[in-house]
Amino acid sequence: MLFNPTPKDERKDFFDKEKEMEQLKELRTPLILVLGLRRTGKSSLIKISTKELEHEKGTITIYIDLRKFEEKNYFSYREFLLQLQSEINKLKRFSKIIDSLKKIEGVSIAGNEIRLSWNKEDRLQFSSLLDALEEGSDNKVVIVLDEAQELLKMRGLNILPSLAYAYDNLKKVKIIISGSEIGLLYDFLRINDAKSPLYGRAFSTVELKPFSKEEAMEFLRKGFEELKIPFNKEEETYEKLGGIPGWLTYFGFTYLESRNYEESINRTLDYAKLLIKKEFDSFISARYTAKKRYYIIMKVISRCGRWSDVKRALEAEEGIEISDSEVYNYLSQLTKHSWIVKNNEMYCPSEPLIGYTFT
Ligand code: ADP
Ligand code: MG
Repeated sequence: MLFNPTPKDERKDFFDKEKEMEQLKELRTPLILVLGLRRTGKSSLIKISTKELEHEKGTITIYIDLRKFEEKNYFSYREFLLQLQSEINKLKRFSKIIDSLKKIEGVSIAGNEIRLSWNKEDRLQFSSLLDALEEGSDNKVVIVLDEAQELLKMRGLNILPSLAYAYDNLKKVKIIISGSEIGLLYDFLRINDAKSPLYGRAFSTVELKPFSKEEAMEFLRKGFEELKIPFNKEEETYEKLGGIPGWLTYFGFTYLESRNYEESINRTLDYAKLLIKKEFDSFISARYTAKKRYYIIMKVISRCGRWSDVKRALEAEEGIEISDSEVYNYLSQLTKHSWIVKNNEMYCPSEPLIGYTFT
């Protein structure tokens, strides 16, 4: 069902994006980026593509969901390995991979489970793990780092040298790196930094954009047609909610339950506002002293605004002068984390419901 509000794992439930899917499935470079705002379908696209590759080519997937670290200010290599460990234990039927893993330092067997070690003495090196996967598999192995910008918060391991190692030396191991906070993801990979291990590498980049007006209307039309529910407010719905697939999906699902247009729109707006606030609070939690300023800026920008509007509003609120560099820094942080975008001289919310949340 198109309006199922969980991430999709079958193509029939996923609207359009055929081109993006084919591009991802090619696995053209050792590292592949999947970029897009939150709720544009990145996780769904990755799940569907890797599942199809599994069926068609025997590709093996290890999916690491880093979203769970979103609310933290940092996490340890140990927490990362625990998640990796539970994913690797799902590969039991690939006994050759398990045999190959058993040979490396930092991997032990307890019962019939694999254990990964983070102790100083026999710590698992991430690159050894990648080597073992390469050696132990006849087919491609795809490692997904979903919402990889969160890895900036990981303590105890710099993963970039291992990624560069895989890029240069491994044939079968492919790494899909997705991110909603696009500027931050680039900060993490440091592709343009001559001192970075990944400097100069080419990446295949799959970008998921919000639906255009036409696509959004077609998505709603198809979704309701599938449910055999009469509906004719596609355009009005796009005007109210914008083109983010996740919000439109939530709306469709709500309407299926309530059959009441106003109620469904309001419930979607309330839900979006709640979620966006929560995500914004995670962003703020590492910048607590400037919390009030960030809220003021988002309010000024909620209907778009210039640099000078932002500066004036902050100064009016606090009654003191605020330096240009501070204003620049706030706007740059908000841009990196994909809260706002700059078009010509105007800063705007990156999607309409972010604007709605802060008005
Ligand atoms: P992301 O990982 O980018 O945050 P998700 O894959 O979690 O996005 O998608 C968010 C929501 O939107 C999910 O409910 C998903 O089912 C829905 N969705 C996203 N894109 C599409 C699409 N093209 N067709 C159908 N549903 C979609
Ligand atoms: Mg996701």
